[in-house]
Amino acid sequence: MKDLAGALALRRARHLYRQRRIIDGPQGPHLRCNGDSLLSFCSNDYLGLANHPRLIQALQQGAEHYGVGSGSSHLISGHSRAHHELELALADFCGQARALLFSTGYMANFGVITTLVDRHDIVCQDKLNHASLIDAAQLSGAQLQRYTHGNMEMLQHALAKNTQQNSLIASDGVFSMDGDIAPLPKLLALAEQHDSWLLLDEAHALGVIGKQGRGSLEYFSLPTPSDRLITVGTLGKAFGTSGAFVAGSDDLVETLIQQARSYIYTTALSSAIAHATLTSLELINTEDWRREHLQMLIQRFRHGAQQLSLPLMPSETPIQPLLLGDSELALQYSERLIQQGILISAIRPPTVPQGKARLRITLSATHQEEDVDKLLDALSKLKINSV
Ligand SMILES: *Cc1c(COP(=O)(O)O)cnc(C)c1O
Repeated sequence: MKDLAGALALRRARHLYRQRRIIDGPQGPHLRCNGDSLLSFCSNDYLGLANHPRLIQALQQGAEHYGVGSGSSHLISGHSRAHHELELALADFCGQARALLFSTGYMANFGVITTLVDRHDIVCQDKLNHASLIDAAQLSGAQLQRYTHGNMEMLQHALAKNTQQNSLIASDGVFSMDGDIAPLPKLLALAEQHDSWLLLDEAHALGVIGKQGRGSLEYFSLPTPSDRLITVGTLGKAFGTSGAFVAGSDDLVETLIQQARSYIYTTALSSAIAHATLTSLELINTEDWRREHLQMLIQRFRHGAQQLSLPLMPSETPIQPLLLGDSELALQYSERLIQQGILISAIRPPTVPQGKARLRITLSATHQEEDVDKLLDALSKLKINSV
């Protein structure tokens, strides 16, 4: 038997031990935790919809109408009218022909990649892609080529070497730990040139970037995509609910329904959640002020952080990490912020590369300017040196 206690002790000694915090109450800028109220900058609830009264009401209505559990998988009897309507609305939102709901983003990425490629094929991925994309490629058995972050020459080289096989490029749209935006025009051009699929994981982009929150395509003012572009969106971030979807061509969606194991062999997402997500979509579509307010907060934070010479990263999204390098240091700063009533998680390897530990700050449309000022004030007391 493996020595679990020994491995855990080693992990602790390396400052890589992870612990959960029990939160009493809803998501929002102020979290209740162990009787304290913490000003939180670590949720992915970018638009502040997770606890929106209209979403709560829609979830209740959804439960009245559909009950709580979906009872079975989509292909048996779990596919409801709410799922169907949400799929239509999400396809429209992404400018794609069809959309297909999955229970989580992890499973959506898994479903697409393992359905489209196998051991005869190649998958090219940015080194900073989300774990679910990397894991899916590994499980697919395809040859995995990882290019250094944003390195389009390296990607081109990998694609050019590959002349025979079916290929798929996968990239985060907004990188989850760095907050920067993938070079989508170049990715699309390379996919076109090398007749490759392009899977774009828009978990941190939908609802957030582009004037109407339609993500990377809108951000770059790109036209409705060709069939080779596949969008994955997650509902647990800006949408404020949970679940995920894949959007793409009719043939792609039909193929996933027939073959994607993470679609077929699992219970459908709760219909009440699907019903509530229609309200999220309506708020995303109609309340531009959430994105505008968020942009203002981002500018305010970056401006203040620059004045304090904090180690900002090149991000224009609500993900604003401070790069510290050392895991122990990141953990210490996170603990000292807690003492000041501020919750920011220390992100350490293997979530980020070795030597790239950081405080991952995320802003939400429900933060106020004063919250950002409090954050800057607390950070100034830490006397963080630039690395
Ligand atoms: C959160 C996230 C996922 C996983 O989505 P879940 O619905 O939480 O499983 C996938 N990709 C990226 C880029 C993410 O940030």
